[in-house]
Amino acid sequence: MSLKNKHIVVTGAAKGIGAAIVDSLAAQGARLSLMGRTLSGLEQKAAKLAQAQCIAVDVADEASVAQGFAAAVEGFGPVDILINNAGQAATAPFHKMDGATWRQMQAVNLDSVFYCCAQVIGDMRAAKSGRIINIASTAALKGYGYVSAYVAAKHGVLGLTRALALETAAHGITVNAVCPGYTETELVRDSIANIMEKTGRSEAEARAELAKGNPQGRLIQPAEVADTVLWLCQHGSQSITGQAIAVAGGEVM
Ligand code: NAP
Repeated sequence: MSLKNKHIVVTGAAKGIGAAIVDSLAAQGARLSLMGRTLSGLEQKAAKLAQAQCIAVDVADEASVAQGFAAAVEGFGPVDILINNAGQAATAPFHKMDGATWRQMQAVNLDSVFYCCAQVIGDMRAAKSGRIINIASTAALKGYGYVSAYVAAKHGVLGLTRALALETAAHGITVNAVCPGYTETELVRDSIANIMEKTGRSEAEARAELAKGNPQGRLIQPAEVADTVLWLCQHGSQSITGQAIAVAGGEVM
């Protein structure tokens, strides 16, 4: 599959892993729909791209997702590839976590994937072609303390990935999860700040605490996740479906 002029939707496209994915796909000549809540951030990202449209969407809100995808299709036609990347990670010990935090984590990390997939699956089935890539996490493959709602949601994303992959396998569609370990983005910088605040550790100590879970002893870079996504978008990966691909330096195997 050449990506030239393919319509690719990336959620959470303004920064972090989403922004790196956008850069990598734009270099292949794709037409990109950039989605996120903050239009100004998306527009800043799109300013340097040849073929991009920016659409304000809250992926946790089904109506907003429906409106956003209608606008995306109006601009660039049916979606060829969907990258479900938008997500958030709230930190709290389980005994102090409230129901609102739990529901917010499920809404933004898991319900969102359902809402976005539901918008594209009909057109992909009709075209007998499509790729869906869910940016899950190593938190979809193992437990971590103090992020139980996030871990539960990401495990759910992997379950949905596997089930949808089976349902769509005979329709020319692949569905996969990319599972990064701790990756150097604002989301992890927030976790470092949280560890510093809660434990009194220095920034270097907090960063080392996160990096030590990776046998390579480092944080993953967003471009490494983007490279894996690009591979899953290309022709040679057509047999890869229903997989959880860890980008984590051997943290899970
Ligand atoms: P990030 O730097 O915080 O960026 C998250 C992006 O998601 C932002 O562009 C944000 O834009 C968007 N977003 C958040 N809530 C949204 C909502 N309700 N609707 C639409 N967009 C929303 O995070 P990141 O580290 O790049 O994470 C990207 C994905 O990778 C997430 O799914 C995360 O769980 C996963 N991941 C990250 C790591 C890591 O260590 N960083 C590890 C494993 C997996 P707006 O705020 O403008 O909406």
